[in-house]
Amino acid sequence: MRVLLVEDEPDLQRVIWTCLQEEGYVVDTAGDGEEGLYKATNWDYDAVVLDVMLPKLDGWQVLTRFRKVKSTPVLLLTARDSLQDRVKGLDSGADDYVVKPFQLEELLARLRALIRRAAGQSTPSIEVGDTNIDTVSRTVTRGGAMIPLTAMEYSLVELLALHKGKLVTRSMIYDKLYDEDDDTLSNLVDVHVSNIRRKLGHEFITTRRGQGYMIND
Ligand code: CA
Repeated sequence: MRVLLVEDEPDLQRVIWTCLQEEGYVVDTAGDGEEGLYKATNWDYDAVVLDVMLPKLDGWQVLTRFRKVKSTPVLLLTARDSLQDRVKGLDSGADDYVVKPFQLEELLARLRALIRRAAGQSTPSIEVGDTNIDTVSRTVTRGGAMIPLTAMEYSLVELLALHKGKLVTRSMIYDKLYDEDDDTLSNLVDVHVSNIRRKLGHEFITTRRGQGYMIND
C-alpha cells in the first residue's frame, strides 16, 4: 500500500511517516500544497493524507483541483474541530478526516477503512480459499495456523488479495510497494513471489507471463 502524506510541519510529518512505515505502508511525502497536488496527480496512491493548513496551496484547494482528475481516497487532517471545517472538507471531496491533535491509532484505523472501502472490501479480513489475510494485524493464517511472512511478502499478498480475481500488473506492484526513492526494482518481485509460493503453495499465485500476477477468487 502506497500513501502520500502532505504535511508541512516537519515534526508531525516525521511522526506520521514513521508510524505509517512501521505499519508497512510505502510513504511518499510533500511539504506544501503544490508539491502534494503534483505527486497525488502523477503517482497512483492507495490514499492521500492531506493537511488543511499548508503553504502555497491549502488543503481545500489541493482537494478541489485533485478531485477533478482522481478519485484516490483522501483523509484530511483538520486543525479545528469545527462543524464548518468538516462539512467543507467532505463537500470538497474528502473521504474522511481526523481532527488535530489526533491519536495515531485513529489515523491508522481510518486510513485502513478508507483503503478497504476503495477496494470494495467491507471487512478487515480477506478470505482466499482456506487462507485468511487480516489487514489489521497484517498476518496470514491458513486453517488457523499462522504463516510467517516478511513485511514485503505480506504487502504483496495483501495487494493481490485486495484485487483477487483480477490481474495485478508488475507496474502496479512497483507503484504500490516501492516508494519514490527506491530504485532497486528489477527482479525483486519474482523473488518475493517465489518465497510466498514456498510458504503458501505454488498455486496460491498465478503468473500471467509478461503481464503480472493474480490470486484466483
Ligand atoms: Ca499545516
